[in-house]
Amino acid sequence: MPDGERERTVATCESCDSAYAAEIWSNGTIQPIGTRTGCECGSTEFQVIGDTSDTVPQNEEID
Ligand SMILES: [Zn+2]
Repeated sequence: MPDGERERTVATCESCDSAYAAEIWSNGTIQPIGTRTGCECGSTEFQVIGDTSDTVPQNEEID
């Protein structure tokens, strides 16, 4: 995928298992939406769960 493109998903904190809506960047970064500094528990490690079928993609182009 092109640089800068993101995919919406759901991720959980690896420390406390809190679930967040998140974006996956083309470089593999998992960025929770609304919690730019990481989980409220202080962790910045997240794990993607499920798939993106029930989320609305952002900036997706449909031909
Ligand atoms: Zn946490």
